[in-house]
Amino acid sequence: MKDCIFCSIVLGDIPNYTVYEDRHVLSFLDIYPIAKGHSVLIPKVHAETIFDLDEELLKSILPGVERTTEIINKKLRPDGFNIGWNHGEAGGQAVPHFHIHILPRWHGDGGTNMHGIVNNSGDIDVADLANFIR
Ligand code: 5GP
Ligand code: ZN
Repeated sequence: MKDCIFCSIVLGDIPNYTVYEDRHVLSFLDIYPIAKGHSVLIPKVHAETIFDLDEELLKSILPGVERTTEIINKKLRPDGFNIGWNHGEAGGQAVPHFHIHILPRWHGDGGTNMHGIVNNSGDIDVADLANFIR
């Protein structure tokens, strides 16, 4: 898509430090890393969120994540990873082209886990919410 940074990276108009690439996905080092080896994986076709990805492409995402993580794991030997994505503006998504962050983690690196993102469980208990969702 025109004016999309990540589409420009796929096209080669913006350079990147590739970690892994196949027919469907590309992963590269984040330009503003928050961890050593911080990488993002994107589908090569433009899709703003996971809702916009077709079934075939969806199936290629996780293998790409696994391969990227494996490469980083072999080279950097972190103690763990956080892997996930920001969905939508409220979720902190800045680039409107679906991307998965792969964050290598080390004991004592000062970071937190998924539970540190938000603390807003709401005014409905879990059982009532389960009924509502069903
Ligand atoms: P978001 O906040 O949308 O989940 O994450 C977007 C990520 O893309 C950020 O971590 C940001 O540093 C990264 N990013 C933005 N522009 C570029 C770029 O041109 N090249 C690379 N390698 N990363 C980028
Ligand atoms: Zn795009």
